[in-house]
Amino acid sequence: MLDTAQILDRLESYYGPQQPAWPTDPYLYLVWLHCGYPASDTACAKGWASLKKKIGVSPLQLLKTSTEALASALTPGGMVPEVRAIRLKTIAERVQNEFGSDLRAGLVGPIAQVRKTLKRFPNIADPGADRIILFAGIAPVAAVPSNCPHVLVRIQRGQERENYGVNYKEAQQAIAAEVPEKLDARTRAYLLLKHHGQELCKRTKPKCEQCPIQLDCAYFTGKRRGRAVG
Ligand code: SF4
Repeated sequence: MLDTAQILDRLESYYGPQQPAWPTDPYLYLVWLHCGYPASDTACAKGWASLKKKIGVSPLQLLKTSTEALASALTPGGMVPEVRAIRLKTIAERVQNEFGSDLRAGLVGPIAQVRKTLKRFPNIADPGADRIILFAGIAPVAAVPSNCPHVLVRIQRGQERENYGVNYKEAQQAIAAEVPEKLDARTRAYLLLKHHGQELCKRTKPKCEQCPIQLDCAYFTGKRRGRAVG
């Protein structure tokens, strides 16, 4: 079985080095995340470009703009722009009032506390909080791309489980054990696994016939563990 470091080397040889397609500052990431829905990189990038051009993204710029005007600026990002506009207002208000407009400066102390602070923002659960913590350079946590925890699980163990939380935890354990606890190593792992999950190892109908891991993948080679659905 390939270990996680070998898998990442194989993916990097195939896809090349990856860069984040989103702002790594915690506040800006929260804004970017709400610029698109469903929140794909493409949808968020469209809404983000429109918001920056028409209104700006600072807390004060968002707060002084009407919800209707915000929704209009967010429309290129996809569905429910009104809901996203209200959430942006909530984020901007909290960052302005509770963090003096500098969220990053407020994310200090034990990681559990930082995670708790981040999870108070709309649409941020553990995977989102870990992503922010890692890419903002706060700590080299073992973050797993929220839409593809199945990638490592499939390669190393076979068929993933139905339970998202179990897959996430298994992927996180593999990264924690086999990727050095350093910011550059953990961000590299995140980006390569995310890219592979989007390009080939899709949640449904993975394109195994094109995959560079194919012959070493437990899912593909049928080495399923016969795990109970849970
Ligand atoms: S062979 Fe299929 S299941 Fe395995 S990593 Fe590649 S795309 Fe994913």
